[in-house]
Amino acid sequence: MKDIGHWIDGKMVAGTSGRSADVMNPATGEVQGKVALATVDELNDAVARAAEAQVAWGATNPQRRARVMMKFADLINRDMDKLAELVSVEHGKTLPDGRGDVQRGLEVIEVCMGAPHMLKGEYMNDGGPGIDLYSMRQPLGVVAGITPFNFPAMIPLWKMGPALAAGNAMILKPSERCPSTSLALAELLKEAGLPDGVLQVVNGDKEVVDAILDNDTIQAVGFVGSTPIAQYIYGRAANNGKRAQCFGGAKNHMLIMPDADLDKAADALVGAGYGAAGERCMAISVAVPVGEKTADALMEKLIPRVEKLKVGPYTAGEDVDYGPVITGQALERIKGLIGSGVEQGADLKIDGRDFSLQGYENGYFIGPSLFDRVEPEMDIYKEEIFGPVLSVVRRNSYDEALKLVMDNQYGNGTSIFTADGDTARDFAAKVNVGMVGINFPIPVPLSYFTFGGWKKSAFGDLNQYGPDAFRFYTKTKTVTARWFSGIKEGGEFAFKAMD
Ligand code: NAD
Repeated sequence: MKDIGHWIDGKMVAGTSGRSADVMNPATGEVQGKVALATVDELNDAVARAAEAQVAWGATNPQRRARVMMKFADLINRDMDKLAELVSVEHGKTLPDGRGDVQRGLEVIEVCMGAPHMLKGEYMNDGGPGIDLYSMRQPLGVVAGITPFNFPAMIPLWKMGPALAAGNAMILKPSERCPSTSLALAELLKEAGLPDGVLQVVNGDKEVVDAILDNDTIQAVGFVGSTPIAQYIYGRAANNGKRAQCFGGAKNHMLIMPDADLDKAADALVGAGYGAAGERCMAISVAVPVGEKTADALMEKLIPRVEKLKVGPYTAGEDVDYGPVITGQALERIKGLIGSGVEQGADLKIDGRDFSLQGYENGYFIGPSLFDRVEPEMDIYKEEIFGPVLSVVRRNSYDEALKLVMDNQYGNGTSIFTADGDTARDFAAKVNVGMVGINFPIPVPLSYFTFGGWKKSAFGDLNQYGPDAFRFYTKTKTVTARWFSGIKEGGEFAFKAMD
């Protein structure tokens, strides 16, 4: 049984609250650790120390801060397999997926090596007679990151990289379900040369989140999690005068046009729908074939592929397609939603509810489920299921399919499979969703672009990582300068004392 505390001032410390949460092994249903849940006082103390440490860190030149990121990237690569395993053991995802989790976070750190470039301001000479204008990007001070369970490495890295490279100190509050990866990353940052106190990892639940939102020193909150919590955090942070960007849940659709390569579309749907047990905010959970013929042909290709999926613990080898879901509660919720789909008239082609794995009967495993003829008023369409369940919603035309995506409350990602460039361009231009894939199922932008959804998938301005993150974690100061005539108008050449 592992006792998991906090990372404060460059070392692990035990919690003092007496409160803790169980960290489960989702593959076995056993408690594998206890994570301390911080009190308001513990949080405020960590913030005060971070504020002290930030002064020197913020004054360190950006290139030196970038060098810490360079070393950090090296260390992440060195420890890639260890970190991936840490992800898998608490989250349950397969090892290749765990490595992907680390890798997509590492890529943001690689962009942070270019922090000096990101932090350059603008300059205009002679904006008026003898007047020059320039802007500076300065760190905010102490900022906070609050992250979800489903990417224990990637999302903490998305938060800490730009915030720290921009000269801030950060309070990171990881998910209490998967806290260990953030602590391991903090340790690597210390080894990379980050001064103590600049990154504080404070574990906890709602109590500590509310303390973050109410702490006057914290200037900005970057949140990722479910939509109701994102909206709550956005409101409370903004009310307390903080900058906030809060990324929420999703319901991502893929349109399959009649001219699409259906084998490729079916392969993409299986990976994007069931990978990581559907616990990705960019998972495709709704397939929208256009036309009955396309729908029938797609179903024919999907069913055998879904039936073949291999579900198991990450320890069972690299050919496992996905692992357990995160908690017993999540498992029951997913099963309940599948039941509601059947009751509300959807056609359940593959039912994963009775799945059981020998030796892992208490693990949170569920087989893949596939619904045909889902309609927008059904709960399985309205809710983010966050499980290995793919819903097929048939539509008769491109316009009807586009309208379905546009009317959905979420707008994180979407995708279109087609052979027609004109349709693809029209879709990309019109759809009210933040990230669009063309013959590409999970369009998570590369790290030098930025990541963010629209509608109820994000609250606040500016996206995560890339140039937007540097804008979010800095404030702009603009200087208007005029120098009155001096030495060039006639210098003083006599040898005089400097008085
Ligand atoms: P969650 O909202 O339950 O938790 C996220 C964080 O908020 C955790 O750190 C948790 O401790 C904290 N939290 C939970 N309840 C709280 C409360 N009542 N008050 C204050 N803080 C609270 O989300 P989760 O289950 O960990 O993650 C899954 C969700 O995250 C899904 O909805 C998924 O779509 C979403 N997600 C979104 C993105 C994105 O970029 N849009 C990325 C990954 C995950």
